[in-house]
Amino acid sequence: LHKAVLKSDKIEVVSQLAASVSHEVRNPLTVTRGFLQMLKDPSIDEEKRLYYLNTAIDELDRAETIIKDYLNFAKPQSNKASLISVKEEVEKALELILPYANHFSVNIKKDLMAGMNISGETVKFHQCILNIIKNGIEAMPNGGDLVISCREMANNHVSITIEDTGCGMSPQQLAKIGEPYFSTKAEKGTGLGMMVVNNIIQEMGGTMDVKSKLNEGTIFKITLPLYDTEKRET
Ligand code: ADP
Ligand code: MG
Repeated sequence: LHKAVLKSDKIEVVSQLAASVSHEVRNPLTVTRGFLQMLKDPSIDEEKRLYYLNTAIDELDRAETIIKDYLNFAKPQSNKASLISVKEEVEKALELILPYANHFSVNIKKDLMAGMNISGETVKFHQCILNIIKNGIEAMPNGGDLVISCREMANNHVSITIEDTGCGMSPQQLAKIGEPYFSTKAEKGTGLGMMVVNNIIQEMGGTMDVKSKLNEGTIFKITLPLYDTEKRET
């Protein structure tokens, strides 16, 4: 019964969000279409042509960001949990984000304990880690350090810590993190990334704790239950 309730909650959340995200994606696409239409006019001068092109590219980038922050979570999933090696999958996520980190001169350091498995959907776990790391990088536009570590905790849990030396958050901002559409990044933000993170962690039976100090940095600590082979095999 408990499981059934959780599942229908999830479906409701996903369908509400899918509706609002498709709305969010439609705006940049409409703008892009308009600029492409104007580019058909052969008499426009070079300056305007460049402006239309750049705006169209920016808008497409925005649509892509919304999809990236969000869509892995919303798309229909097999809903099959599998065994996830924390170290291996965090390393794969880091590989994906490395060009982005390099672009902002962010130095990524890792301290990952091997041999710890959790249970969940790999795609969602990636999405969760990527959304947090991406925020960390974006908090350090002039470079800095991002440290990601994982270790076993005493109570059969694993902790994953992601720490940055970025802009940090005020207590007011911290209180709002994860609220749909809360973003301090104006047109560059979606305000969907942390909401997706919260949903995924909750679904995996975990918790997240965030500590932050303005102009010093932020620490995200995720705690997830370790996969217990003996229990599951019976
Ligand atoms: P977005 O990144 O699109 O703005 P998110 O949901 O990913 O949306 O994050 C919401 C807000 O939380 C960000 O706009 C930012 O203000 C704050 N935030 C998240 N992570 C960090 C971080 N590592 N350092 C500082 N602020 C952060
Ligand atoms: Mg984000």
